[in-house]
Amino acid sequence: MDVSNFGPETRAVHAGREDLALLGVHALPIDLSSTYPLPDIERGGDSYEAMATGGHPLNDGGPVYARLWNPTVARFERGLADLEHAETAVAFASGMAAFTAAVLAMSSPSSRGHVVAVRPLYGGSDHLLASGLLGVTVTFCRADEVAQSIRPDTRLVMVETPANPSLELVDIADVVAQADGVPVVVDNTFATPVLQNPLDHGAAMSLHSATKYLGGHGDVVGGVIATDEDTARKLRQVRAITGALLHPLAAYLLHRGLATLPLRIHAQERSAQTVAAWLQRHPAIQRLHYPSPEASPDLIPSQFRGTGAMMSVTLHGGYEAAARLTSTLELFTHAVSLGGVDSLVQHPAALTHRPVAPEARPSASMVRLSIGLENPEDLVSDLDRALGAVGSQSTERQCATLSTVP
Ligand SMILES: *Cc1c(COP(=O)(O)O)cnc(C)c1O
Repeated sequence: MDVSNFGPETRAVHAGREDLALLGVHALPIDLSSTYPLPDIERGGDSYEAMATGGHPLNDGGPVYARLWNPTVARFERGLADLEHAETAVAFASGMAAFTAAVLAMSSPSSRGHVVAVRPLYGGSDHLLASGLLGVTVTFCRADEVAQSIRPDTRLVMVETPANPSLELVDIADVVAQADGVPVVVDNTFATPVLQNPLDHGAAMSLHSATKYLGGHGDVVGGVIATDEDTARKLRQVRAITGALLHPLAAYLLHRGLATLPLRIHAQERSAQTVAAWLQRHPAIQRLHYPSPEASPDLIPSQFRGTGAMMSVTLHGGYEAAARLTSTLELFTHAVSLGGVDSLVQHPAALTHRPVAPEARPSASMVRLSIGLENPEDLVSDLDRALGAVGSQSTERQCATLSTVP
């Protein structure tokens, strides 16, 4: 059965599962084999060769070794690729492993070259680029400075929209035009394929920390890149060589998560809109950072088909107020990560964005909220109580910089 003509909710439930009835099973099969019996040296060797160079196992050679390829992971990749309107997808052990592979796959060992990175980015992505660990030189810039930042040796442009934690939106097609042929990777973690499909706007890769919305239940770490088959070959080759494959149990959970992704995203978004409208009017809030069609009529809904369920607030009371809010909320768990069924609160400057250079770090007055599936009135009550305990005396305090930048 070809599911590509169905609506997104139908595809979320059926993509990557087309052959299950033929196999005589209903649930996604999990293959935990670390190695596979080989038909003979010749055919096993040919299959090994195919996978080590970024291809798939050959039919008569079979899979050889689990670091190279796994059928449960490949199924999840098919499901995600379908939702992303992509030819294919490549899944990794984490979002950071996926981003590492994207940088390595686009550059060559003899000349790692240059990456243009539009800030703000997730703190870990910013850290990885700034650390120099991957051997690339990096120009950090604003979205309107991409064209002037491109050099003859630029291999990749990295952009995140909505951005973490400022929720700023970036025009993907405009960045692609400025990149002038250099592949653009879009971190689509906050939007998910339910609300945004970067490849439709010219991006070469749509990257996810699958740990967040795709899994959706806070119990799995993974990453995935939706892309074309040529790019996927390069990514799979890096993944095989560096050993960054997603675990099949994680792939199973992520694939199961896809089935409810549209439902979760729309419900969490509705609650987030209720919470945002309430926060907007609260006297302790200096500024609400949440996408809106009024603020971004050129991008909502043409690029971003909604407003999402992530938001940040900057507080009049500065760092002290932010610290108090995170520790006074009860229904919101004080924890990093996002996109799950339960609401989370965290302080980007102290935690997720701690590795970012001071000049690009979010304000110490900022707190980020990930809205879950709870009753929105309960979330508002929790915020109301916690914000009542927050002082409005502004304090000047900067957060420490991560001391272990490699
Ligand atoms: C969490 C996150 C990442 C990193 O993903 P991991 O799965 O933690 O490695 C990348 N980008 C964004 C936007 C994130 O929120």
